[in-house]
Amino acid sequence: MLETSKTLFERAQQSIPGGVNSPARAFNSVGGAPVFLEQARGSVLTDVDGKEYIDYVGSWGPMILGHAYGPVIEAVQEAAAKSTSFGAPTEIEVKMAELVKQMAPGVDKIRMVNSGTEACMSAIRVARGYTGRDKVIKFEGNYHGHGDSFLINAGSGALTLGTPSSPGVTEGTAKDTLTADFNDLNSVKKLLNEYKGEVAAIIVEPVAGNMGCIPPQKGFLAGLRELCDAQDTVLVFDEVMTGFRVAQGGAQQRFGVTADIVTYGKIIGAGLPVGAFGGSREIMQVVSPDGPVYQAGTLSGNPLAMAAGYALLSELYENPVHYDELEEKTTYLFRGMKEVFEHHEVSATINRVGSMMSVFFTREEVRDFQTAQTTNRELFRDFFHGMLTNGVYLPPSPFESWFLANSHTEAMLDETITAADTAIADAI
Ligand code: PLP
Repeated sequence: MLETSKTLFERAQQSIPGGVNSPARAFNSVGGAPVFLEQARGSVLTDVDGKEYIDYVGSWGPMILGHAYGPVIEAVQEAAAKSTSFGAPTEIEVKMAELVKQMAPGVDKIRMVNSGTEACMSAIRVARGYTGRDKVIKFEGNYHGHGDSFLINAGSGALTLGTPSSPGVTEGTAKDTLTADFNDLNSVKKLLNEYKGEVAAIIVEPVAGNMGCIPPQKGFLAGLRELCDAQDTVLVFDEVMTGFRVAQGGAQQRFGVTADIVTYGKIIGAGLPVGAFGGSREIMQVVSPDGPVYQAGTLSGNPLAMAAGYALLSELYENPVHYDELEEKTTYLFRGMKEVFEHHEVSATINRVGSMMSVFFTREEVRDFQTAQTTNRELFRDFFHGMLTNGVYLPPSPFESWFLANSHTEAMLDETITAADTAIADAI
């Protein structure tokens, strides 16, 4: 066990719940003290003990071009010298909104917030205000942040820690959240029939990334679009993870389906706290101060956060070749890992969409919450620790997506595959 991380974790536990400021960072499901980090460059993390790791967490998504990306750091420094916050409109907010509109299909207007959670909470309020209906359909194992309406059969840390439905959410709130099965249109149809005319929105992670990475099956997203159109229900794509990652225009572009409201987070802030929700002019006109649906934020559109996000998005917009390179790198890692598991005769399903991937230790095709649950958690735990010992930092849960960055070099990917070979040999 790394000494300084261990000592810091002991101290942290005295003053912070579980010693961490977000449960997904805890090592509860894999055991041991989390690694405390000191700095990161590109795809290399350095912990407080001076040990280096190849990073596949990428701060849970934002670091698509790697840590401490030059133009982002410069933009933040320049912005900070002017003021850390004005609480009044600035030019960078306008530029940011214009850029997102160019990249994101179907977005006429966009409102900046401070996290993915806020973006999803606001999107649902807007959908309810717009339709005058209360109920929302979400999918088992999808995670949309920690807003009350979403902590019903949720994924991510809630799933990892065995609390997919959280105490503290009132029965009244819980009854308005209906849960369907990911990749199963019939389960959605059933709910829409049972609650005809009552469903304000269907919210979905177009690529599920919070129960491990699970792609949408052919026709699933288009089917949701049709079902929503038939009942004037608002289709919300939660692109907090997939936005600007699985394609420049996110999952909407990759799968050719346009939602009514889209939520963003992670990459849009380049590692600073940013979220956003946007949609058609008609829907967004209900948002305050144009309309009656209230939504606000002291730090929303913060100049540092906007400068960082704008620098990253501009690079992605101007050089779409990044996406081709990410695709190649992830395919390379996918193939290498597949060979390793085959060589050791370990049952493993590796799911991949763009630069998101994850390994499930199971024989099953993983297509929904139930099949994700078939993964061998003990084997993942041992594999995870083997990888960590060999200098590879994976998400500390079998139910989280790995994120590749364009700063991953071929040498790093080879090193990761070699580490996997050692880790799995030790784990079985
Ligand atoms: N939606 C999705 C798909 C996410 O993956 C997350 C976070 O992981 C959120 C929403 C919540 O975002 P945040 O953690 O920024 O509040």
